[in-house]
This record gives sequence, structure tokens and C-alpha cells, in this order.
Amino acid sequence: MIVGVLALQGAFALHQQRLRDLGVTAPAVRTHAQLDDVDALVVPGGESTTMSHLLRTNELFEPLAKRLGDGMPVFGTCAGMILCASQVEDGRPDQRSFAAIDITVRRNGYGRQLASFEADLDVDALAESFHAVFIRAPRVERVGTDVEVLAEHDGVPVLLRQGACTVSSFHPELTPDGRLHQMFVDSIRES
Ligand code: GLN
Repeated sequence: MIVGVLALQGAFALHQQRLRDLGVTAPAVRTHAQLDDVDALVVPGGESTTMSHLLRTNELFEPLAKRLGDGMPVFGTCAGMILCASQVEDGRPDQRSFAAIDITVRRNGYGRQLASFEADLDVDALAESFHAVFIRAPRVERVGTDVEVLAEHDGVPVLLRQGACTVSSFHPELTPDGRLHQMFVDSIRES
């Protein structure tokens, strides 16, 4: 199984590391040809407006939209969650997203004081809590009826899944704990 990591910008290298720790081949994806070679994709944190722009200038937006429409598994984290969402608040007017999951997210929605914070989350299907790092995180404001909420923080969903699309508003790659990457890899095997 090959799980690519979108590597146009942002926190891609540690995602590759976490996947490799699990024995998964995890190439960087920057081109259409590289996208064609992967079975699934991680869209990392970073800056969603910049990634949206680079997806277009690298002629990757349409090919990736097509793969996602065809059901390729994707794990979008932080800015990657914004790119997967069906609706984005406080985005740039020219920012685009893939609508791979039916949620509304507000960019930088935790406000100034909570711009960055850490929390131990109870995650469905994990026996022990997961230590999550939030950095200028998107805040989920609406969850579609077909979306599963896998974890919440203070009553706000922070880890969600709809079909082949999993998203987190935090950065799961920043701790050595590979359990959410493992959960994603397991979901690919089951799909
Ligand atoms: N605030 C960033 C954005 O709008 C996301 C931050 C992150 O990925 N750590 O894309």
C-alpha cells in the first residue's frame, strides 16, 4: 500500500515519518504523476490558502478532486481539514476546497487566545487518550448528517469521518503517537 503525503507546503515530513514508522511507503506528492501512483493521501497542516493556490498552479487541484470523487481515502489534518471541507468560513475569496466531507469549518476559529493549545482527547476506538496539538486550528461549526464524530474537544468535533475522508483539526503527526495514522491505514485496508 502506498500512502502519499501532499508536499506542496506545510507539515508534510513528519506525516511521512509516522507512516514509515508503520511500515507504509509514504512518498511526497507534488505532481499529477505522483498522485496517480498512490492508493491514499494525507493532506497536511500548513496554510490552506497557500495550498489551495499551489494546488492550482501545480495543476493538481482537478486531478485530486477527481481522485477524491472516485473515493480515494484521504486524511486531512488542520489546513488539510479545511481543504477537505464542503464549506469554509473566513477563507480567502479565491480559496477552494474539495467537499470530501460535509462539514463547515471556520479558519483560525479558536480565536487569538487559543491560537495554539494542546489537549488529551478521548477518541472512539482508542483505549487511551490521544495528545493533540492544535495550531491556529479550524473550528468545526456544522456537521452533516452522514458524518461520524470520532472525538470532541469542549463539545466541538475535532476528529471526524465520512466514508473515505477522515479529518482532524489538530496535528496528529507532531507527537510520536502513531495510532491515528494506524487508524487511517487500517481504514484503507478495509475499504
Ligand atoms: N490556519 C491555517 C489555515 O487556515 C491552518 C493552520 C494549520 O494547519 N496548523 O490554513
